[in-house]
Amino acid sequence: MSSTEELTEKFNKLGLEEVKIKEILKNKKVLASFDSILSESSSKITFPLDKTKRLLLHQLAILSKGETIVNRQLITESILNDDLKSNQQLDEAFKYVKANGDNATKAKLDEVSGVGIIVTEDQVKSQIQNYIQNNKNEIEEKRYQYLPKILANVRTIPELKWANPGSFKPIIDEELSKLLGPKDERDVIKKEKKSKKPAASTTKPNKSDDKKSQENQRSMFTEGFLGDLHKVGENPQKYPELMVEHLKQVKNQVHTRFPPEPNGFLHIGHSKAILVNFGFAKHNNGVCYLRYDDTNPEAEEDVYFKSILKMVNWLGFEPFKITYSSDYFDELYQLAENLIKNDLAYVCHDTAEEIKRSRGIKEDGTPGGERIPSKDRNRPIEESLKEFRKMRDGFYKPGEATLRMKQDLSSPNPQMWDLIAYRVLNASHPRTGDKWKIYPTYDFTHCLVDSFENITHSLCTTEFYLSRESYEWLCDALHVYRPAQREYGRLNITGTVLSKRKIAKLVNENYVRGWDDPRLFTLEAIKRRGVPPGAILTFINTLGVTTSTTNIQVGRFESSIRKFLEDTVPRLMLILNPIEIEIDNVDDDFELEVEIPYKPGNDKFGSRKLTFTKNFYIDSNDFSEDDLDKEFFRLKPNQPVGLLKIPYNVSFKSLERDSNGKITKIHVNYDNEIVKKPKTYIQWIPKSSKHNSPIKIKETRVYNQLFNSENPSAHPEGFLKDINPDSEEIFHNSIVEPAFKQVLKESPWSIDEENSIPKEFNVIEDPKTSGPEIVRFQALRVGYFALDKDSSDDSIILNRIVSLKESTK
Ligand code: ATP
Ligand code: MG
Repeated sequence: MSSTEELTEKFNKLGLEEVKIKEILKNKKVLASFDSILSESSSKITFPLDKTKRLLLHQLAILSKGETIVNRQLITESILNDDLKSNQQLDEAFKYVKANGDNATKAKLDEVSGVGIIVTEDQVKSQIQNYIQNNKNEIEEKRYQYLPKILANVRTIPELKWANPGSFKPIIDEELSKLLGPKDERDVIKKEKKSKKPAASTTKPNKSDDKKSQENQRSMFTEGFLGDLHKVGENPQKYPELMVEHLKQVKNQVHTRFPPEPNGFLHIGHSKAILVNFGFAKHNNGVCYLRYDDTNPEAEEDVYFKSILKMVNWLGFEPFKITYSSDYFDELYQLAENLIKNDLAYVCHDTAEEIKRSRGIKEDGTPGGERIPSKDRNRPIEESLKEFRKMRDGFYKPGEATLRMKQDLSSPNPQMWDLIAYRVLNASHPRTGDKWKIYPTYDFTHCLVDSFENITHSLCTTEFYLSRESYEWLCDALHVYRPAQREYGRLNITGTVLSKRKIAKLVNENYVRGWDDPRLFTLEAIKRRGVPPGAILTFINTLGVTTSTTNIQVGRFESSIRKFLEDTVPRLMLILNPIEIEIDNVDDDFELEVEIPYKPGNDKFGSRKLTFTKNFYIDSNDFSEDDLDKEFFRLKPNQPVGLLKIPYNVSFKSLERDSNGKITKIHVNYDNEIVKKPKTYIQWIPKSSKHNSPIKIKETRVYNQLFNSENPSAHPEGFLKDINPDSEEIFHNSIVEPAFKQVLKESPWSIDEENSIPKEFNVIEDPKTSGPEIVRFQALRVGYFALDKDSSDDSIILNRIVSLKESTK
C-alpha cells in the first residue's frame, strides 16, 4: 500500500478538493479501497481527472469499504471510459459485480447500469410536465413546500431512471413557476422566521459555542432564494459539451458578478445586490467579478466608476477581477456577425415608431396589437452582413439602422420579439474612445459577457424575469456556455426617493448638501452619516432573500442600525445646549476623579477617567424653573438631581441672568453630607482648562426624515413639496467630554468579539481606507453620532446617525 504522503499527492493530482482528501484520509477502509482502485487502473488514469470521474471513483471506494471486490476494474474502467456517469449507474454496476465476481462481464454490466441509454433534457422535461399535470391539485394546494416531495417522486419515474438527476431541479423549478407564479408569503413564512434568528438574536453569555456557531451558520445564504440555488455544474445546457469546458474553467467554484451601470451613485438597494452577489460567492468560497456594464457611453462618468468600487470595498468585499462590458466589444461584435451568419439576426431599417408598431403596440400606446415582422426580417444573410458592417463603419446615423435578433414573434414573451442587439450611437466611449460607432444593447451583452466570464449564477432582480428566455435563447443561438440567470426581489426603502433624477434635483436645487448628504440613501450618504457597513449587511441578512420585493420603512432600517451600534460603539457624554453650573460649597481647586466605563456592563470596552470640578456644564433642558411640574424629575429649585457616577446629589441655590433675562449660570450645593437617592441622574461635563474640558463642537447636525410622508413621489404637487422643513437641525454650542480625543484616536473601536453579530456580516473597517465616519459613539441620552467629513483638525462636526429611541412621529 502507498504511504499517506504518496496518496495525498496522488489525490491532489487527481484534483480532489482538500476537504475531500481529509475525509478520505480519515477513513482507513475507504483509503485502502481508493488506493487499490487507483492501482488497478493506473495506466488509464489521467491527471487531473474530471470532476464526475473523481467523485465516482471516490464513491466506488466508499462502496468497497476496504473489501476485495473481484473484477472491480470493470467498474473503474467504465467510469474512466465515461460509460458510467451517475451514482445510480454506479450503484447498479457495483451490485452486479459484487454478486457475480469472476463471472461478471462488461456487456452485462453495461446492460444493468443503463450504459449508453441517453435520456435527453426534452424527455426529462416532458416526463416532469406529465407528472406535474397529473398531480396538479396537490401541488397547487401545497405549493413550493411540496418541492422536495416532487423531486423524490420524479426520481422514481422509470423512464427517468437513467436520466441525469442534476437536470431535474431546474426543470421542476421552471415548471412550478409557470404553474404557481413566483414564491410569495405562502411559501416563505416559515423560512423567513428561521432566517431572522441568527441576526436578530442576542447571544446569551452562557450559550455553548457549538450552539452559537450552528445558529450563525443559518443565514441569507443558506436559506430562501440563495439557499435553494443550484450547485455549480447543475445548470442545464442545451449543449452539454459546453458544460464540460465550463467546469474546467471554474474548478467547481461559484462565479458571480455585480454588474452596475456606471451612470450614477449606488443606493441602499444596490447594497442588497452587492451582498447577494459578493456575499453568496464568498460564503461558498467562490469569486465575484465587479463588472461595469458600460454599454451606454452617453451616461457614464468617471466619478461613478470610482465611487462604485469604493462602496463595494466599504461593504467589505474585494472583487475577484474588475472588468468592463466594453472589454469584450471585439468578441461581441464577432458573435453578432456569427448570429447573422446563422440567420438569427438581421439589420433592420425600421424607425423606432415602426418597431414599436411591429411589436404590437397600438397607435394609442397600448400593447396587444397584431405583431408584424419587419420588412427586413427575411433579407439575405449576405445583405445583413454587409449592412451591419456599414453600421460599424459609420455609414448610418443613429436610428437609421439596428441589428435585431431573429427570435419568435409568436411567443407570448415580449423579450422574444426580435430584440435589438446593436444600435448606432454617435458617442465617444470613456474606455474605447471613438473606435466604435455601434454599441451592443444590454440584452445582447449581458448574457454573453456572463458566458465569457463563466458565471455560474447570474443573479439579478425580478424585473428581468422575462429576460431569462432571451438570455438563454441568445447563448444557445451562439452555441456558447449558458449561465443560469436567477431573479430575486428588490429592496426598496419607503419614505425617501432613490431615483437618480430625483436625487439630482434635490442636490441641484440645494435641498441637501450633495449626493452624500446624510439624509439621503445613496451608499455614499449612508456611509457619511456614520452607519457602519456591518449594520447594512446585518440588516439585509435579517430581511433574507426571496423572490418578492421587500419594502422597508426608513424606521425599520434605523432600528436595525441602532441595534448594531449598541453592540459596537463606546459611550460618551455630549451636551447639545450647555448651561454652566457652579458649586458654591467647594474650594476653587476641588477635584474628584471618577472612572466611567465606555459601556456599562461590558469590561471589554474599557473605561476613562473624568474629573469632577467646581464648575461644569449640564444640558439646559435638564433644568426647569417650574417647581410645580410633577413630571420633571431633573434639577428644579425644589428638587436635587444626581450626576452620573458622582457620589452625592447637587441641589439648586441661585441663578445668574444676562440683561435679556436669559439664564447664564446656575449655582448649586454639593450635598456631600446627605446620602439620598435622587429621582434621576443627568450628564455633566467639567469646565476646567486644566483638564482640557469641555471639547467644543463646531456643529452637531441632527437629522430627521427628509420627507413627511411614506411615499414622497405620490405627492400631488411633486415630491419636493413633501420635504420636511426640519430635516436638519444644527447645534452650534454643543460640547463633549475630553475622552472624545481617545475615541477619535482609537476608532473604529475594536469590536467586541462576543457581540451578537455574525462574523460573516461584521465588516472590520480599515482606518486607512475609510473616512472620518468611523469615529462613532453613543452620546448618552442623545443619540449615536459620527464625525462628519466637513471636520478639520481644529473644528469638529458631528452627524447624528440615529436617535436613541424610535421617534414617535
Ligand atoms: P436604479 O435604476 O435604481 O439606479 P439600476 O437597476 O439601474 O438601479 P444597475 O446599476 O443596473 O442599477 O444595478 C446593478 C445591479 O443592482 C443590478 O443587478 C440590479 O438588479 C441591482 N439592483 C438595483 N437596484 C436594486 C434594488 N433596489 N434592490 C436590489 N438590487 C438592485
Ligand atoms: Mg440599470
